[in-house]
Amino acid sequence: VEKLIATTAHERMPWYHGNIARDEAERRLYSGAQPDGKFLLRDKKENGTYALSLVYGKTVYHYRIDQDKSGKYSIPEGTKFDTLWQLVEYLKLKPDGLIFYLRESCPNPSMAASAAPAPPTHPSVTTKERGAGNSTSLTTTNCISLKAAGKSRMLPMDTSVYESPYSDPEELKDKKLFLKRDHLMIDEVELGAGNFGCVKKGVYKMRKKQIDVAIKVLKSNNEKTVRDEMMTEAQIMHQLDNPYIVRMIGVCEAESLMLVMEMASGGPLNKFLSSKKDEITVSNIVELMHQVSMGMKYLEEKNFVHRDLAARNVLLVNQHYAKISDFGLSKALGADDSYYKARTAGKWPLKWYAPECILYHKFSSKSDVWSYGVTMWEAFSYGQKPYKKMKGPEVISFIEQGKRMDCPTECPAEIYALMMQCWTYRWEERPGFFSVENTIRTYYYSIATKTENGPKAEDKSKAAFP
Ligand code: ADP
Ligand code: MG
Repeated sequence: VEKLIATTAHERMPWYHGNIARDEAERRLYSGAQPDGKFLLRDKKENGTYALSLVYGKTVYHYRIDQDKSGKYSIPEGTKFDTLWQLVEYLKLKPDGLIFYLRESCPNPSMAASAAPAPPTHPSVTTKERGAGNSTSLTTTNCISLKAAGKSRMLPMDTSVYESPYSDPEELKDKKLFLKRDHLMIDEVELGAGNFGCVKKGVYKMRKKQIDVAIKVLKSNNEKTVRDEMMTEAQIMHQLDNPYIVRMIGVCEAESLMLVMEMASGGPLNKFLSSKKDEITVSNIVELMHQVSMGMKYLEEKNFVHRDLAARNVLLVNQHYAKISDFGLSKALGADDSYYKARTAGKWPLKWYAPECILYHKFSSKSDVWSYGVTMWEAFSYGQKPYKKMKGPEVISFIEQGKRMDCPTECPAEIYALMMQCWTYRWEERPGFFSVENTIRTYYYSIATKTENGPKAEDKSKAAFP
């Protein structure tokens, strides 16, 4: 949708005159004052191309706008842009081959005054193709205008981890579960630790690029079961590809068994929120939790259960981009199964588990929804531990008595209502992620528009990330 907005932005600009003939363009430019740089843009319906008409020295000049194979626009021999709106903005700064730079728009008479156009709020979407070919991405100009509006920030799709590193067909040729050790550089920096061993920072060399990775290194001389567990985790992650889930790049069998993943350098959500309490707004948390719900909706569709969804397992790429991680307990459900039945209880995160998990060892997307509710509670409490000092068994009886955690201090009522829905006792009556994602999205969009216009403009959110 954002791309569509950006690529059709010119249609709402006063300088866009639609399908008018060359002489009509001249008539419009010659009427009234004729300052240098007065211009308009028109399209030639016959062949779907555009032309720019410009006044200089009381004469009108016409320029054809070329479009290359990938759809980028430019004046002949000029700099290429993803959208016409960006091209025009650029030509206002630099003639780039025109006889004069663009200055004053010749207003389209058929555009009502009331329809005065506002520039699109997220033109940065078009920067996704940054670095492709010799086109100059207009990030600079966009950033200037966005910064002026106080809204400059990166969207998930502007980062390198939005798409799989294998989305490039050239890279896909080399995709294998097992990676070559000499393509992997392991840093000494430890990102985290667990029972299995530790997670280290590293770089993985691909055909055309090098990517930052996080490497889960299995402790050496570990028993076979831990090894098998890590291979199961790898096999699960290998089947997933979603912007809101940490992707696995592959497994490397060398000095020890290593699971190589996309890097989410912001670390776990709970730690981030507890350390940045004063800087992160509630709407920022809603945004992140909405992303988690999108990742979970994807898992639900693919028939996978996570079984360890918690704020500690939501990692941040940046302040506005979260990914679900840690598939150590996850299971792929059979085609006809709606739940996974654990034979024995293990070392389980009981505070995040729905009643049916604890009572009957039954795990489904609905039990992940319960965990999502607890994760929401942690997030809106800025990383506090759920159920205070209660022990696992105490939590179970607390829930059995029909009690639920209170609404965190800064948590909006709509969000708490969703949490309570996630904590519906009977799984048959609990919403699924399809519904949860829809609810939180609707709420997020409703506050996002309010905060953008409201006086309380994001005073908290100043650069928690550089
Ligand atoms: P465990 O099964 O022990 O909980 P996790 O997969 O949750 O293991 O990883 C442990 C820690 O390692 C995380 O809390 C995080 O700090 C770090 N980590 C794991 N994966 C990544 C990643 N992809 N990017 C950055 N840090 C990571
Ligand atoms: Mg974990």
